Amino acid sequence: MMGTTSGVEQPPQQGPPATSPDRRCVTCGRAIEWHMNVCPYCGRDYRVVAGPPSKPRTSKPAIGGTLVIIAGILALVMGVFYIVVEPSDLDAWGYSPVSEADMSLSEVADILGTCGIIEIVIGMIAIVGGAFAIMRRSFGLAIAGAIVGMIGVGFLVGGLLGLIGLILIAISRSEF
Ligand SMILES: [Zn+2]
Repeated sequence: MMGTTSGVEQPPQQGPPATSPDRRCVTCGRAIEWHMNVCPYCGRDYRVVAGPPSKPRTSKPAIGGTLVIIAGILALVMGVFYIVVEPSDLDAWGYSPVSEADMSLSEVADILGTCGIIEIVIGMIAIVGGAFAIMRRSFGLAIAGAIVGMIGVGFLVGGLLGLIGLILIAISRSEF
């Protein structure tokens, strides 16, 4: 009784059986055959879409770009501050550009206004460059934005943020 099948060689099972209840469509949940590339019930496509070889991706461009954008915002805010501040306010806060530089109030206001416009332009260029860095597009614009953001030195810390951003973007050039 026990030896009725002992002489029959069973072929080794290789891989999953042609039909197995273990494979279920992730979309509709029905059992489908293992070899199927497309679910016959709902049409879900399981073929791997072959794309171009992906570049190595780190978070360095995103972090660098974010720092450059912050530097740009600081420069922007400082520029607006330069434009709206009155030279007499500076006197009230203990800065005395008028008495120290022997300039009239209107001259000081002109210089502050010019610096403010420059800072605003710097801030906008840095923000655009930072955005390009985050998108990993146009390495040149990202680097330019970081350099400009660093030069802007928005509230001093902007210079440091721009420098760190510049380094992070520069070392991740291959990701652009
Ligand atoms: Zn399905």
